[in-house]
Amino acid sequence: MKRGNPLARRTPLKQGKPPERKTPLKSASNLERRAPLKPRSKKQEAKYRVRRVLVAELLAERPVCERCHAARSTDVHEPRMRSRGADINDPDQCVCLCRDCHRWVHDHPAAATAEGWLIPSWEAAS
Ligand SMILES: [Zn+2]
Repeated sequence: MKRGNPLARRTPLKQGKPPERKTPLKSASNLERRAPLKPRSKKQEAKYRVRRVLVAELLAERPVCERCHAARSTDVHEPRMRSRGADINDPDQCVCLCRDCHRWVHDHPAAATAEGWLIPSWEAAS
């Protein structure tokens, strides 16, 4: 397409009053929250009620870290991470680790995946 001169207005803009609002603006006073946001939804809270019991049971059942076999296990780790769809209440998807090992697993995802402490999302559920 060949570009020529910019379009020129043939009729001048009309002078007059600006267009009037037909619907009134809603007052902003009702936009404030009455109650603060809940830290967890009711659905999440129900999951965590089950989870807390499971964590206590698992840590009592497996008191030694499953990675270093040296320290006391304090964390329940999901090799198929929550962000990748792990069920936090499935004991078969949980591993008991000490704090240092758990930190290492999440600080070194590539090495942890190679050692089997993390399961990629594309691998089939076991
Ligand atoms: Zn450990």
